[in-house]
Order: sequence, then structure tokens, then C-alpha cells
Amino acid sequence: MKRSPLTVLAATAATATLVLTGCGQEGSPTTGGAAGGGATSGASAPTYDVAADVALTGSPTFDKITSAGRVVVGVKADQPGLGLRSAASGEYAGFDIEIAKLVAASLGLTPDQIEFKETVSANREPFLQQGQVDMVVATYTINDKRKEVVDFAGPYYVAGQDLLVRKDDTSITGPDSLAGKKVCSVEGSTPATRIETEYPQAQLVKLDTYSKCVDQLTANSVDAVTTDDAILRGYAAQQPDALKVVGAPFSEEPYGIGLPKGDTVLRGAVNDAIEQAVTDGDWKAAYDFTLGGSGTDPEPPTVDRY
Ligand code: GLU
Repeated sequence: MKRSPLTVLAATAATATLVLTGCGQEGSPTTGGAAGGGATSGASAPTYDVAADVALTGSPTFDKITSAGRVVVGVKADQPGLGLRSAASGEYAGFDIEIAKLVAASLGLTPDQIEFKETVSANREPFLQQGQVDMVVATYTINDKRKEVVDFAGPYYVAGQDLLVRKDDTSITGPDSLAGKKVCSVEGSTPATRIETEYPQAQLVKLDTYSKCVDQLTANSVDAVTTDDAILRGYAAQQPDALKVVGAPFSEEPYGIGLPKGDTVLRGAVNDAIEQAVTDGDWKAAYDFTLGGSGTDPEPPTVDRY
């Protein structure tokens, strides 16, 4: 990695983030996923070279970012390992946060020029459509329905729908054993839709965030939580004595970076950034620092330039 003054600045900011995030954690997390920052995975905080003199002619979103001097990125705030806001420091940590930082760096923006804005599953498309965010990096599955109103760069990761249950539960082994069970998922998510359409014998409970579903599970108010395995592993790592992931994924959830529809210039640039990160090792550094402690070592997916 070559060191420009901007890189040094970015490195300093990233270190500060790690320290602050560490202060906000409760207990001693066993994985980077639980920490949302990889404090015990052994990986150090990555830094990303900030590009100089970036010009994206014909991108209205980039024009907006340039004149504002910052990029607004919609992220999750309650998903350990992916997008988690520390209650103590207000800092965000996780794989999606690292992806946002490396994409921002490729557009010429330092970490302190990123404004993270909390999104939940159901408001990702509206936030992009209304211009409330410039991009969304929030465990956001690329699919044709969503592509009708937003665009996607990526994928940068592929998850799969799975189930989180109480540790002592042996009755739920996969989606076919959900008949009559109360299953919690989130409004506006692909896992909720899949339960409704493919497993209607389950009793679906829809809330606005997955952490609320997890609270319902530990309170015995529901029998399972369903969403992407990567998300569920983060919750299980926070309460390993109480919760477990079933571990039989039953869908493919390719994660994309949501962008305002029609900004093909920006989409091309963000796709370039993801490919570059895979090539130069930044993707791996981001993964190892965040999700890497969860015992998985996936190959990055191939970008789909539709
Ligand atoms: N990846 C799925 C989705 O985009 C589930 C995770 C989420 O709701 O953020 O709907």
C-alpha cells in the first residue's frame, strides 16, 4: 500500500474508530463478528488508499457528494459483524462499514467524510429514491424487484437465509420444521417474503429490526429468527450459551451496494472499486477484521455488471 498523506489521515481515523468501538463493547466477544470490529480475530484495522483527483463525469450522485464534501451511506446499526453502532461512542463497525469506507476511499473520500445514516430493511429503497442517502451498504440483497426502483453495484458478499433458535431447541432443523412455530423476521426483507410465500405454515411475526426479533427469541415470545446466516452468526456469538444458528442455509442472498436508479457512471465506479479491493487485498483485510472471526473464509463473489 503506498502511503499518501491522506492514507495516513485515514489510518489515524480508523484506529480511533477501533479504540472507541472497543470501549463500547460489553463483555469479551469471542469473534470479530461479535465485536463488529475484529478485536479478538487478530486482524488489525484496515486502511484504504484515498484516491486523488477523482472525476465521474455524468454522475449526478457524485456531483452531489462532491459539492457536499461528504457521502451519506445508509447502514444497519444493530447487526454485529456487519453494521453495528456503538451506544457508547456512536461509531459504526462491521463488514458493511468497511466496504463503505473502501468504496468512499476509491471515490476520493476519507473516513471522516462519510456520514453513516441508520437504515432498516424497509426504508432502504425509499431513502435512495428520496435522496436521503447516496448509497446503501446494509446487508442488501440484489434482486429484480428492488432493481425496478434502485440500482446495485456488486455483489461483494453472498449470504444465505438461515434460522436462529434457542440453544436447547432440537425441534427446528430447517425451514420445513417451522409448521406452527412463531418465526420472527423483518418488514421489507427477502427472508420475510420467503417465509410468507414458501413456508406459509410458519407463523410469521414481522418487526422493524432483527435485534428486536432476537429479544423476542430470548424472551420465549417467538421460536426462531430468520434472516441471512452472516447476520444470525453475529447474534449467536453475542449469546453463545443461549442461542445457536441452525446452519442449513436455504437461499442465496448476494449483497449489493444500493445506488440511486439510473446513475450508471457511479455504478460502474463502485463496481471498479469492489473489483480493485478484491485484487489488492483490501476486501480480504475488511473481511478478516470483521466477519473473519466467525470461522468462515469465503471467496469474494464476481461482480455482476448488468
Ligand atoms: N439480505 C436480506 C435483505 O436484503 C436480509 C437482510 C436484511 O433485511 O437486511 O432483505
